[in-house]
Amino acid sequence: MQNINDKFSKNKIQHEKISIREEIDNAERKKASLLLHMGILTYEKIRNEIIIDNSFDSLCNEILELDKLIYNNNLKINDLEESSKDIVCECGSTLNSENNFCGTCGKKIDINDSYFIECIKCNALNEEDSNYCQCCGNKL
Ligand SMILES: [Zn+2]
Ligand SMILES: [Zn+2]
Repeated sequence: MQNINDKFSKNKIQHEKISIREEIDNAERKKASLLLHMGILTYEKIRNEIIIDNSFDSLCNEILELDKLIYNNNLKINDLEESSKDIVCECGSTLNSENNFCGTCGKKIDINDSYFIECIKCNALNEEDSNYCQCCGNKL
């Protein structure tokens, strides 16, 4: 009888431990997401110079480098998509992006060369009508 009771209470302890661990895990997950949220709010305040504290500098620089990497890689993807896209002339012929003139009707192909503004903070190129840098959020 003693043995069975022992086993029973061990199981109970085991179950209790598991449910306590689950509670800890949930609390930690919630804490991580709150910290993330707080971090984003803080970062926005630093960027807008509401918080001025140079102890954030190295973290901010690392975030800026990541923003640049993400931004530049998105540009690369856009470029790849752009270069694989067919250009269709007004006459209906499909042209490839290296041609300057349509082979069927001879029309000049306008590949819209838009102008870019360079961000002074992160050097990313932004379309000329942008007000804020798409990469780092700096005012252009
Ligand atoms: Zn044409
Ligand atoms: Zn920027």
